[in-house]
Amino acid sequence: MTLPEPIEIVFRETAPLKHPRGRRLPIYLWPAMNPGKLSDADAERLVAELDRRGVGLICRWDHNRFEDSLAQALPVARAQRKLGLPINIDATPCMYAFFNGDASTAHIDDAGKPFWDPSFGKADMGCPFAVEHRRADIRGRIERFADAYALAGLEPGFVFADWEVDGPIAWNDAWEASKRCKRCRERIPEIGNFLAFQKALYDLRADMQRDVYAEPLLRRFPNVLVGNYGVYPHDGFRYWYDYFEREEDWYPGIRDGKALYRHWSDEFTGTGYTFAMPVVYTWARMWNWYDFDNADYRWFRPMLLAATNAGKHTPSNVPVIAFVHWHTTDPPKPPDPAMKQMSEWAYQELLWHMLLRGVDTFFLWCPADESAEEVRLLHPVWAAAQEYGAFLEKGRPVCFDVPDRPGTVISGLLLGDRLLVRRTDFVKNGKEVMMPIAGREVSIPAGTGCRVINVQAGAPISSERKP
Ligand SMILES: [Zn+2]
Repeated sequence: MTLPEPIEIVFRETAPLKHPRGRRLPIYLWPAMNPGKLSDADAERLVAELDRRGVGLICRWDHNRFEDSLAQALPVARAQRKLGLPINIDATPCMYAFFNGDASTAHIDDAGKPFWDPSFGKADMGCPFAVEHRRADIRGRIERFADAYALAGLEPGFVFADWEVDGPIAWNDAWEASKRCKRCRERIPEIGNFLAFQKALYDLRADMQRDVYAEPLLRRFPNVLVGNYGVYPHDGFRYWYDYFEREEDWYPGIRDGKALYRHWSDEFTGTGYTFAMPVVYTWARMWNWYDFDNADYRWFRPMLLAATNAGKHTPSNVPVIAFVHWHTTDPPKPPDPAMKQMSEWAYQELLWHMLLRGVDTFFLWCPADESAEEVRLLHPVWAAAQEYGAFLEKGRPVCFDVPDRPGTVISGLLLGDRLLVRRTDFVKNGKEVMMPIAGREVSIPAGTGCRVINVQAGAPISSERKP
């Protein structure tokens, strides 16, 4: 069987799991998508071989090449059904785009003249209230694929989309554009209040995703995990900026170092999504937010804040599937010679802490030329964590603290009397740290690594630290 190079890379850079993943979610990797057109026998072999490594194979739904998409995706879906594995789908192409360049989707000024908002690096970002008529078209694409699967007796288990720069977004010049637009002013009576504007836009953005994407899938497949890039429950603040979002001084939010963590309206609830999808990337701009001497902690703090935000606020029955990326993301051009890439060590520590703060599994995103290194760093952490399957599945995260300067980071999952804990020291610290857990002061011994501690006795069950 000839496989696309990205899937060959996944095989080269991963090993079969030593600890079975049981009924927990697989790991998702951007290179482990779209294997091409396979026979049923080959699809079954490929799906099974990836599953030995815990990797879930994903196929794309592209309405522009509907028959071809189905011809590629159905053998994989049949294999996944036969092997009792989730059927994994990338629905991204179907979601683009509400703003399709048609003048009817533009803002409209007082003179009745249409205009666009170019501040997102996209020529046709238009009026959030002028895309209602686009819903039926986009919903129809999802329904057409969903019906084909239902007809074949195939039930998608995991459907994600990477739908970002389209539809209502409140950042950059969006507020200015909407205040200039007759239609937006009519639709948002309190448009002079940025938070009211933001809420109106996110309510609408959520409803669009529910209507055209989540609802049509959930109606046919009530158990499906459906979600979108960057949509997750949170504390009302956003600890990262996407590549197309400008940092602006006037956003309401929390100032921390040179970071401004923006006030962010709830988008998740209105979508009806059944899993949360935070984004935990090494965005280059994070480098400038803190002046810590410890270079790793400049990345670690905002990334752990972003991950913790989702882990802490997502209900335990809703899986958290986090997008991750290690190579400096969206680096400046020309490069900044002072910017030091996050170390492999710090990234792998971060991944452990995410798992011990309520993140269920990872989804690696990366450009093709980074695949080998990204998979080589990510997969072993997730694979090693499977040893603690009972904690991952039933444990309750008990530490959400993110130190505001380089220090000791502790995360843990409590299961009955047993605490799976990981401690990472960004400054040398040979002392135990006392943590209040389940009403007791628990001693976390010095040293990086995972331990299992009996909370009642206060003594480590496994005296040996594991990497
Ligand atoms: Zn408008």
